Amino acid sequence: AVEIDALHKWYGTFHVLKGIDLRVAHGSRIVICGPSGSGKSTLIRCINGLEAYRQGTIRLDGTKLGEDAVQTALARRQTGMVFQNFNLFPHLSVLANCTLALRRVAGMARTEAEALARHYLEKVRIPEQASKYPAQLSGGQQQRVAIARALCMSPRLMLFDEPTSALDPEMIREVLDVMTELAHDGMTMICVTHEMGFAREVADAVVFMDRGAIVERAEPATFFSAPSHPRARDFLGTLL
Ligand code: ATP
Ligand code: MG
Repeated sequence: AVEIDALHKWYGTFHVLKGIDLRVAHGSRIVICGPSGSGKSTLIRCINGLEAYRQGTIRLDGTKLGEDAVQTALARRQTGMVFQNFNLFPHLSVLANCTLALRRVAGMARTEAEALARHYLEKVRIPEQASKYPAQLSGGQQQRVAIARALCMSPRLMLFDEPTSALDPEMIREVLDVMTELAHDGMTMICVTHEMGFAREVADAVVFMDRGAIVERAEPATFFSAPSHPRARDFLGTLL
């Protein structure tokens, strides 16, 4: 579903992504980890078309991002993104957050959009919060709204960038549970996370990034018990 070849990106003169090759098959789950500044968020943002890149290609279900504007927009619409800081619209209710893109982008009628939104709010286990505003919710609830909002657009791929790192410990589990359920439903997922329990349970592969490159890709069991790259060993040491 996702094919990335020889991807390079610079911020000015800073070479932030140095030749990324990554394959994510339809229905598989990849966890990306690595030290701060290694380029994880930049890579995710490139896959979602939020960042331009200089060299290489990203294909989503065969569509080369950046080649044809209409095809690129369609491919982006089928990609859901969940950020560390939720990025909900503060002036809109939970329901309106979920229906906004359905109505504006997909052109769906209000009743139909609201029914779909309520379905996904049910799925993330907060149907009773539909008429509240983001500021009235806990962090874990806000993040589950963000997931429901992304699911409303029927994504073929879900990208998560440290979705639990802004949450209090007691709220992390409820978000990871929703993500685990999504994985069991067969969603293709790329998750930047340092939640190693989640990675072990859910990921098909762990990808370790260091200084703008992927230096190791392994099954979780192998990665956590016997990482082959010295920097991955150092990194895992810092998580204990
Ligand atoms: P973290 O674990 O802290 O989230 P990360 O692996 O997600 O780190 P990125 O956010 O992708 O790292 O950043 C990679 C590098 O690019 C960092 O050195 C960062 O300072 C730099 N960088 C990120 N965004 C920009 C930008 N808009 N302009 C210039 N440099 C940037
Ligand atoms: Mg980041």
